[in-house]
Amino acid sequence: FFVSFEGGDGVGKTTHVRLLGEWLAAVTGREVVTTREPGGTTLGVELRRLVQHGEDMDARTEALLYAADRAHHVASLVRPALERGAIVVTDRYLDSSVAYQAGGRELSEAEVEGMSLWATGGLLPAVTVLLDVDPVVAARRLTGEPDRLERAGDDFHRRARDTFLRRAAEDPTRWLVVDASGTVDDIQAQIRVDIAARLDL
Ligand code: C5P
Ligand code: MG
Repeated sequence: FFVSFEGGDGVGKTTHVRLLGEWLAAVTGREVVTTREPGGTTLGVELRRLVQHGEDMDARTEALLYAADRAHHVASLVRPALERGAIVVTDRYLDSSVAYQAGGRELSEAEVEGMSLWATGGLLPAVTVLLDVDPVVAARRLTGEPDRLERAGDDFHRRARDTFLRRAAEDPTRWLVVDASGTVDDIQAQIRVDIAARLDL
């Protein structure tokens, strides 16, 4: 069972991945692997550093680095975990590439999605949780120095959000959209109700 979390910066994906992972381990007794993109593997940490703190790069170069991170993540970590029966919960997956590299950077959505599917051998999550919040509100929650992408500007983040919302509307079977402006407890409760129904818990 493969779950991805998507949404803009500062919406609380990391917190909810952790909380959902702890709960799933407790209620199912199964192995639960929580991970992230970019940077879920040793190679991925290097790629994450290059794309976030390296020199400026062309949109296609950026898209290829994310795709490389994802290909390695799926091949070395996600697929083996799913094959041994683990539940995998990832903080970002291929919809982030469609939202940021296509929506944000204005590359072709079909091309970016096609490249992501090629990179992963077509692996899609059973559920994708979109934590949705206005990017201007979310930006206020971020702490520390903004990285290269966090500085990309309001229009970039607005286009990414619009892309997430449109994709979610197009495929309501895979997507769960949660208003992430509420409290952590309320948001996590909504996510658990949905996942429990899907897993027959
Ligand atoms: O959520 P996280 O902090 O891991 O995201 C890292 C940064 O990379 C964010 O600023 C996000 O906007 C950006 N990103 C991106 N394209 C992706 C994944 C993340 O631009 N495919
Ligand atoms: Mg971030």
